[in-house]
Amino acid sequence: MSQNEYAVIEAAEVAHWAAHTEEADVVIVGLGCAGVCAAIEAREAGADVLVFERASGGGGVTGMAAGHLYLGGGTRVQKAVGVDDTVEDMFTYLMMNTPEPDEEKIRRYCDESVSHFDWLVEMGVPFNDTMYKGKHVLQMTDECLIWSGNEEVHPFREKAKPAPRGHKVAQVGELGGAKMMECLTAKAESLGIRIVYDAHVHNLVREEGKIVGVSYRVYGEEKGSVRARKAVILAAGQFTQNEDLLEEYLPELLDEAYMRQFTPNDDGAGHQLGRAAGGVLKHMDGALVTAAFYPPESHIKGILVNQEGKRYVSEDSYHSRSSMFTTKQSDRRGWLILDEKTYAVEPQHYGAYPLVDAFETVEEIEKALEMPTGSLQKTVSSYNEHAAKGEDPEFHKGKKWLTPLDQAPFAALDASVGQATYMAFTLGGLDVTIEGEVIAKGGGTISGLYAIGGCASNIAQDGTGYSSGTCIGESTFFGRRAGRHSASS
Ligand SMILES: Cc1cc2nc3c(=O)[nH]c(=O)nc-3n(C[C@H](O)[C@H](O)[C@H](O)COP(=O)(O)OP(=O)(O)OC[C@H]3O[C@@H](n4cnc5c(N)ncnc54)[C@H](O)[C@@H]3O)c2cc1C
Repeated sequence: MSQNEYAVIEAAEVAHWAAHTEEADVVIVGLGCAGVCAAIEAREAGADVLVFERASGGGGVTGMAAGHLYLGGGTRVQKAVGVDDTVEDMFTYLMMNTPEPDEEKIRRYCDESVSHFDWLVEMGVPFNDTMYKGKHVLQMTDECLIWSGNEEVHPFREKAKPAPRGHKVAQVGELGGAKMMECLTAKAESLGIRIVYDAHVHNLVREEGKIVGVSYRVYGEEKGSVRARKAVILAAGQFTQNEDLLEEYLPELLDEAYMRQFTPNDDGAGHQLGRAAGGVLKHMDGALVTAAFYPPESHIKGILVNQEGKRYVSEDSYHSRSSMFTTKQSDRRGWLILDEKTYAVEPQHYGAYPLVDAFETVEEIEKALEMPTGSLQKTVSSYNEHAAKGEDPEFHKGKKWLTPLDQAPFAALDASVGQATYMAFTLGGLDVTIEGEVIAKGGGTISGLYAIGGCASNIAQDGTGYSSGTCIGESTFFGRRAGRHSASS
């Protein structure tokens, strides 16, 4: 089957309905963090739940994730480590940081963030009452809280009191997402939720305008159609692997310079099934694109400059924000300029910016990088003059990162797309209500159909306005809502 053969069939066309014993109230397509949370909530609300998972085990992209969740407003961990946060500050920050914020969804997400954290703990997901205080992409310890966004960056810090809100599942280093899936899947199984693995859902079944079931295959063998008495929930993840969908919506990511992050099942099955049913796709050109240049932290004290020798972003921004700005410079080129005291070889930065060379003067860098004569010298001299006074009138970089770059030798690291390592995954998905109901092209919702997680569009929209933990945070949060709502439909 080619990637784009997902379809909706009418119930009258169903060749083989599975036995009544295989029916369920709620059928969920995909067992990642969104699907498992929906399954638990639907079951707790009294529904008989059946999950189809295409892989031989659950987890999806969630299983590859570090396992940060963006939560705040006074969680147990924030309080334990002395972080003072409020729902209002979290709300203001997310509203500012999101390109086209959905106020109702962000409001609910912030209002119920603490209780969502408590629910995850109740389900068995562990979080330590600790904080990693440095600036990092992800803590290599099992410490929980981390600064994972632009909270301390201008102009956000002036409008919303900054607080760290990235909560990592208690797991040393990476794979916090896998740990979370292990806990939530065990919980789902203990509740008697039926899970069928190696089951590839390829059709939705419609009857009198309502989605009433799915058809699936196991190892290519047709297994017929299964009825969903109340609803089908699409929880099939992102479309990062699907080159046809990328061609249509995000052709830039087909450039080999980007290292796309996906599992083999990230073909946008949910997007395609939802679209075939009459749903609308939103923010499909949005992606998390990032090449982080920290750690080491001292590199944040350097400056990012473009081919014109000019700065283009505050270097203390969250790594995907600064990376996105680099991708928007001419020829997608940029360099991180450091001096003797700010350059550090270890530990290696995530984006692996290659060292162009070391230079005795800024003028030499300018020549080597073919920037207009005097341009970089002017930028560095103006930056240094203000940094010496603890100021950055151009981009308002935080005071603690300001130091004159005046000690030779100087280093230029290549931040350009094609040189540094840019990783990417997609963020767009089906337009849904706050309950996860799929919104129909002509208005209203598609009866019996929900979408959550990576195949839905809720809060995360693009890399400039992303904070680590938003995807899993919203996938689990809105997944739970869809589970409850579908069970009561
Ligand atoms: C490397 C990496 C690290 C990340 N780290 C973080 C992080 O720390 N914090 C954060 O918030 N976000 C992170 N993200 C993003 C985040 O992991 C995802 O957005 C989120 O996990 C999506 O959850 P999901 O349940 O929608 O999808 P998934 O976890 O991908 O689950 C979808 C499931 O559906 C199954 N499926 C697909 N098609 C079908 C079909 N046709 N039939 C049946 N089953 C199907 C898949 O096999 C999969 O198991 C990261 C992403 C990547 C790539």
